[in-house]
Amino acid sequence: MEAAEKKELLSLMPSELEAWMLEAGEAKYRVSQLFPQLHKGLSPEEMTNLGRRLQEKLQASFFWHLPQVEQKLVSALDGTVKYLFSLADGNCVESVVMRYEHGNTVCISSQVGCRMGCKFCASTIGGRVRNLTAGELIGQVIAAQKDLGERISNIVMMGIGEPLDNYDNVLRFLRLVNCENGLNIGYRHISLSTCGLVDGIERLMEENLPITLSISLHAPDDETRSAIMPINRRWGVDALLDACRAYFTRTGRRISFEYTLIAGKNDSVSNAQKLARVLNAKLRSRTETMPIHVNLIPVNEVSETGFRHSSRDAVNAFARTLESKGIRATVRRRLGSDINASCGQLRRAAMKNAANGTPAADTEEV
Ligand code: SAH
Repeated sequence: MEAAEKKELLSLMPSELEAWMLEAGEAKYRVSQLFPQLHKGLSPEEMTNLGRRLQEKLQASFFWHLPQVEQKLVSALDGTVKYLFSLADGNCVESVVMRYEHGNTVCISSQVGCRMGCKFCASTIGGRVRNLTAGELIGQVIAAQKDLGERISNIVMMGIGEPLDNYDNVLRFLRLVNCENGLNIGYRHISLSTCGLVDGIERLMEENLPITLSISLHAPDDETRSAIMPINRRWGVDALLDACRAYFTRTGRRISFEYTLIAGKNDSVSNAQKLARVLNAKLRSRTETMPIHVNLIPVNEVSETGFRHSSRDAVNAFARTLESKGIRATVRRRLGSDINASCGQLRRAAMKNAANGTPAADTEEV
């Protein structure tokens, strides 16, 4: 059987593995041996406690591949680790591990490339190649944990790709990482970031998973937002904030907003005033107050986009304006700035170098 026709072992839930075991004439309890080892990053070949016969059956029926470390960069400033992982078909994605006092957080990619077309983002140049499978999504967490030899306790889906554009695999992944016998990462320790696919937000709220939703807003009005984020032409700011409100009402989970500050595009005090006005108007009423938190991120300059980041004064003035209107704002500390930890750029560098036939270069870009 060709590898492509076989089911991917890392994508399967314990209940699905149990069903397979029964069909294969094996005992159900075998899953309690198989699943934890799989999620520690072992291949079926390495699981000698399963016995030769079961190992062979697994190899005959399933396809197994863990993302391979192609490049690993460690920040000398804060210990942030950035991985370029290769997948079974040779495509590459990036994952970043950030070290906090409360534990390790991994930022994972959800697609190979992205088709959302945000003008400031490196991941979208070249479009979407394909979705990642649930096994490739969890594989990034497992491979990073295995390489570091330390537990990863938090996940953010803020890497390459739009998670809600890969809805089914992402949902399967969320359920997989939450399994007790596997990584056992609680939903409250997982954040999912979206550029604003309202249909996906509406589906997600019905799942009622207590994950944290993060919205990449980046502009307070349709004109400004549509100019930098094409998705806004499908769902405008009003529709997006209505979906946020419904999400909060339904799940009780707070939503955080990301706002990337780009010099001269969306970073004026009047943009901040508008932002405060629209957030307060849409998300706060007399009866119900949704906690609103805005993360301000000076845009990470990508050579292809030509956008410049805002001055420190502009960032501070923006934050002060929001705060004065009752909106909590934090200026995001940039971790791993010496290794260019923000996503998309390592993959692009590797793709360019592959095209040139030279080995992938270090990613330093000043
Ligand atoms: N597609 C999802 C998640 C991936 S991007 C989303 O849009 O939310 C993760 C975050 O990085 C988003 O807020 C995105 O807008 C932001 N981002 C992308 N390119 C950036 C850049 N050059 N500088 C700063 N933030 C950027």
